[in-house]
Amino acid sequence: MLDLSIQEGAPKVKPVVLVVEDSPALSRLLRRSISAKLSCSIIECKSHAEAVAAISATPVTVAVTGLNLPDAPSGQILHLLSENKIPTILFSASVVEDLVHNYASRRLIDYIVKDGPGAVDRVAVTVCRVIDNGSTSVLVVDDMTAARSELVSFLRRQNFRVFAARTGRDALQILSENPGVEIVVTDYFMPDMDGFELTKQVRRRYASDRMRIIGVSASGDRHLSASFLKAGASDFIYRPFLPEELQCRIDNNVETLLQLKRLRYLAERDPLTSLYNRRAFFERAEAHLRSLTLAQAGGKTGAVAIVDIDHFKSINDNYGHEIGDIVLKTLAATFQELSHSEEVVTSRLGGEEFAFLMRNHTLAQGTSILERMLSGIREIRFASTKGDFTVTASAGIVEIEVGESLDNQLNAADQMLYLAKKLGRNQICSNLLFRPSE
Ligand code: GH3
Ligand code: MG
Ligand code: MG
Repeated sequence: MLDLSIQEGAPKVKPVVLVVEDSPALSRLLRRSISAKLSCSIIECKSHAEAVAAISATPVTVAVTGLNLPDAPSGQILHLLSENKIPTILFSASVVEDLVHNYASRRLIDYIVKDGPGAVDRVAVTVCRVIDNGSTSVLVVDDMTAARSELVSFLRRQNFRVFAARTGRDALQILSENPGVEIVVTDYFMPDMDGFELTKQVRRRYASDRMRIIGVSASGDRHLSASFLKAGASDFIYRPFLPEELQCRIDNNVETLLQLKRLRYLAERDPLTSLYNRRAFFERAEAHLRSLTLAQAGGKTGAVAIVDIDHFKSINDNYGHEIGDIVLKTLAATFQELSHSEEVVTSRLGGEEFAFLMRNHTLAQGTSILERMLSGIREIRFASTKGDFTVTASAGIVEIEVGESLDNQLNAADQMLYLAKKLGRNQICSNLLFRPSE
């Protein structure tokens, strides 16, 4: 599993899965299958009474339950979980027709029939999906209150983070304030701007690899879906819809986003260190330079820095290439940790050379980050069969000059790095020191 949060570094709270199952063997199978797929805490309960106690002791992220329990033979467990607003997956011995057709209204997020050896695994996959939904934000746009709340509560039950807007204008406002939204579900008929117009406006700002748009309409006009898709929607669904159909369409779009994220991750990262690679660094640095205006010259234009490990070739020669790789990985992780900020892009340019884009930093602020990094790595002791050793690195940093090309800025940082090497390595040179006095 790829850690897609490496640069964002959001701390993750471990999800809690409640398994309510009176058969100890089945409960054990569920535990094994869920924990093989997901890092989570699992609470196993054999009865309604145990579930009551567990729920009052711990906030539960998602529950898997059978329908009938020894102390609650008529499905009372569903009421308990529903009252506590716990997303619930029903794992039942047979198809309960009534539930299958009305499962949305029963507050269930899914039902799985115990129909063979694959069923336990399907439960585990569904648990993962529901927990993953917690990191996906969906915006529902509909001018009709009843239709909007129906969709919102359906999506909340599926554990999505949900925003709601009554008009296209509100929707655009919410999107600009909440960059985490990745799925928009929009109605067609709305007073200020219709679903097509909203779709077109959203598409102008967000490409389909980052934002999925699902059109919804109660209209009988069969051309509507084609027009929605042409306007840039990723999918379309006619009302009234079966909750299951909507769920599958949303799941497919979430899956597409996830796959695109994985591809983007692989394309942007250096495989050894997981830092941004050269191309990803250049893209971000170019975008930053484009965003600067002449008016910002003299303000916080940011800084670019290059760090190069000292005498790295001799580390490879003395201790072997594998140890050299461990050094690269350890230093990369240290740089990432010590430079950590949304404003700092940390990358491996190639070999033993790392580049940093420090947006919204002064040269002095950038230099103090570098000082922290270089002294941080000096402290690390590496073990080898030939004894312990330490490493040092040199750095060059320049303030970004508005109007200069990225190549020129990097060349300037490289010249500062060259100077640091020449002056004896294990130090930082910056153009602050070498500016002609005014
Ligand atoms: P200086 O202090 O002047 O920077 O000397 P140096 O030895 O660090 O620099 P030089 O450019 O001579 O050597 C860099 C070495 O880095 C040579 C190359 O084999 C090694 N190297 C490049 N990429 C990797 C890698 O992915 N893994 C390992 N283990 N070594 C690498
Ligand atoms: Mg070097
Ligand atoms: Mg080098």
